[in-house]
Amino acid sequence: MLARPDHARVVSGVVRSGRQCSRSACGRPAVATLTYVYSDSTAVLGPLAHLAEPHSYDLCSEHAERLTAPRGWEVVRVTPEFVPTGPTPDDLLALADAVREAGRPRAVAPVPEPVVAEVARRGHLRVLRGEGL
Ligand SMILES: [Zn+2]
Repeated sequence: MLARPDHARVVSGVVRSGRQCSRSACGRPAVATLTYVYSDSTAVLGPLAHLAEPHSYDLCSEHAERLTAPRGWEVVRVTPEFVPTGPTPDDLLALADAVREAGRPRAVAPVPEPVVAEVARRGHLRVLRGEGL
């Protein structure tokens, strides 16, 4: 941790996730997490993990794109491309819609006439039918 220059901490304060690329001399915000699965000789590159795990490294978009596997290793990319973290305008619109929908009073559906009661009454009269009796 002593190797980190002071300005890197300032940069990380700006980033929402507070995480940055683990590659040396790279202070860009991390957008992906690379996890080495030693048992499978596989490097899994996926979305930024919420928790830092052992054998996992955060990477910025550039380093994630340029990632190459060590000899004999396979790289598995969970997502084809990485986008900066944070809500997109679409997400915000969807959220606004959801909030508006929740605040709207429920439309009261008109209660249909009880058709069953009508049929029963007719059955009671029986006169109109003239079938059995
Ligand atoms: Zn980087």
